[in-house]
Amino acid sequence: MSEAAARPRVTIVVPVFNEEAVLPALLRRLAAVFDGERDRVWRAVLVDDGSRDRTAGLVRAQAVRDPRFELVELSRNFGFQSALSAGLARAREGEAVVTMDADLQDPPEVIPELVAAWLRGAEVVRAVRRSRAEQGLRRVGFDLFHRVFGALSDHPVEPNTGTFGLLGPAAVEAFNALPEHHRFFPGLRSWIGFPAADVPYDRQERAAGKPQQTLRRLVRYGLDGVFSFSHLPLRLVTYAGMLVACLGFAAGLFFVLWRLLDFERSPTGFTTLAALITFLGGVQLIGIGILGEYLGRIYDEVKRRPNYILKSAPPPGGNPAASGP
Ligand code: UDP
Ligand code: MG
Repeated sequence: MSEAAARPRVTIVVPVFNEEAVLPALLRRLAAVFDGERDRVWRAVLVDDGSRDRTAGLVRAQAVRDPRFELVELSRNFGFQSALSAGLARAREGEAVVTMDADLQDPPEVIPELVAAWLRGAEVVRAVRRSRAEQGLRRVGFDLFHRVFGALSDHPVEPNTGTFGLLGPAAVEAFNALPEHHRFFPGLRSWIGFPAADVPYDRQERAAGKPQQTLRRLVRYGLDGVFSFSHLPLRLVTYAGMLVACLGFAAGLFFVLWRLLDFERSPTGFTTLAALITFLGGVQLIGIGILGEYLGRIYDEVKRRPNYILKSAPPPGGNPAASGP
């Protein structure tokens, strides 16, 4: 084996959306990490998710200066999970892929530790937060989500993990072969299996700019996570139905007996009826809503639309600015 073939190859995949404020720092710190470990073959694929600022231009300029960087552009904003899928699809055979956010909440300096864990034999490496920087509503939301998801999912996700981590070549291949449209990366990473390892790190504040994920999107990912990893909501509807039916039967029996045994004082029962009807109506609507959540997702899946559309990407051989093999 030649020396070049023996060097571990690692590609960093970063979805970027309107990140012109943090990009210079991100590119600089990634390049510093690459320079610090020259016995690996590094590559960074930045997936521009339809940015409306100078994000694409900044990455393109970097790709000209430094052939280790590549720009992949989507035709519009498809959302974080789709951009991530687009980046993972660019992985070449035998490469490990590090997945991370652009905003430097996931510090690039942790990457060598992820790679080391992979070289020690883990196919899936999760970066685990020792501390969380988010505050307020987002933090409450994340905590709540992880509690609900953990209780519902057949493949629980460690609460202090997110996108940041590494997939070995086999895990990347497994992930890229997944056919589904609605993707919740941490859940799928747990689903594909393989020996896993955890690397602790301190989550940082966003280095610059504003969060690009709207709360609405985060809620949607949360629902995707729950509904695509669990049938429990459906089962709960069944259980609730059985429970309500039993209660109704018991109540019916009770009122019939009351009528028979104590005719004088038995009530005419308008209030009871109204309460029962609204209660049952509510239970039924919730049930239909839960069915709808699954149905909508099934509809999206059977349409088989791609997760994203590329506007531009370097040729499969990589950044043309790179000279030689
Ligand atoms: N992002 C993206 N497409 C979007 C929204 C966000 O690719 O539609 C990227 C964003 O540039 C960043 C990452 O997803 O690299 C995480 O986004 P952000 O930091 O805004 O979200 P949060 O920290 O709240 O998860
Ligand atoms: Mg962030």
